Amino acid sequence: RIYLDSNATTVVDPLVKQAMDPFYCQMYGNPNSLHRFGTETHPAMSIALDRMYKAIDADDEDDIIINGCATEGNNTVLKSVFMDTLAKGEPCHIITSQIEHPSVLKTCQYLEKEHGIEVTYLPVNKDGLVTLDSLKAHLVPGKTSLVSIMWANNETGLINPIKELAEYTKQNGVLFHTDAVQAVGKIPVSLKEVPADYLTFSAHKFHGPIGVGGMYIRHGNTITPLLHGGEQMGHKRAGTVNVPFVVGMGLAIELASQHLDYIDSDVRRLRNKLEDAILALPDTIVIGDRKYRTPNTILASFKGIEGEAFLWDLNQNGIAASTGSACSSEELEADATFQAMDMDNNLSHTGVRFSLSRFTTEEEIDVSIEVINKTVQRLRAISSTY
Ligand code: PMP
Repeated sequence: RIYLDSNATTVVDPLVKQAMDPFYCQMYGNPNSLHRFGTETHPAMSIALDRMYKAIDADDEDDIIINGCATEGNNTVLKSVFMDTLAKGEPCHIITSQIEHPSVLKTCQYLEKEHGIEVTYLPVNKDGLVTLDSLKAHLVPGKTSLVSIMWANNETGLINPIKELAEYTKQNGVLFHTDAVQAVGKIPVSLKEVPADYLTFSAHKFHGPIGVGGMYIRHGNTITPLLHGGEQMGHKRAGTVNVPFVVGMGLAIELASQHLDYIDSDVRRLRNKLEDAILALPDTIVIGDRKYRTPNTILASFKGIEGEAFLWDLNQNGIAASTGSACSSEELEADATFQAMDMDNNLSHTGVRFSLSRFTTEEEIDVSIEVINKTVQRLRAISSTY
């Protein structure tokens, strides 16, 4: 079996699993308890948090709140900004983009429809990127409450000019959030360089466990919690802290940072090898220029072949890939990115995403190339549209 779906989730690094293990049956105390079972978890938790600060180059004064997933982080930031404007009796205007993950898009749509806030969905340019010009055209100082733009896109891997978007937003006194789920662990992320107020990430995208995420809050900013209850996370996210997950996410993010060079060189080389082989097939395209993409991602389109049919065939041959919109792939909707990039609609159902990780081997790529070649030939031979 070959796993080429690392933008959906990743294999847990065995070292991460090993580091988590003692916190299930030995040091299983609730960190909020005052007895030793509770307090003995503190050193490991604080090491884990330090690792997170370091990995995203945050300042000691800033906050990282541990939560259940990036979906929760994104919901929290967007709803918090809405609640704050509501409390102040001000109108709420959020600027986001058309290519955001559903955890941002659907939250914005909910706030728009159910709470009457104004949301601007920025389009992308022909390269699939959100541009500073379009932000400039829509941001209204004194009116816009929040700009929320993803760092890198989950479908295409395209990396937005996040530094300039954040800088412009901040120069105009507006809050900036970035969903960095597909950036953390793949490309350098520095909150000293990018002046974001909020940033969200998720452990399972960088070889940590599924079900734990982080929400960064820059010093001086507040957050209205989504979950009220206990005093955990400085009253910003109630619920007993999942110690093994925090420990796991801490080690996973540190290991991911240590492997950034490897991803930039070796994973990129394997990705390019696969991409070159795909592009050598006739009537095949890859979305987005390589120079704007995370080093592990390919979103390809094969003329005359339905993405879903292709995936089924690949799966039969032991290869796991996904359609572009993997997070909601039950629906045969045209990929959001294809739509936003205004591609020929015939292509919009054919996107197949291959996403590698540092655990992907050269042999796996060689086998995949062979299988993809055969599958494309076979499916085109029976295609009514090719
Ligand atoms: N944002 C992006 C860009 C993602 O790719 C994902 C995961 N598919 C999420 C948010 C949601 O992350 P989680 O699974 O932790 O809720």
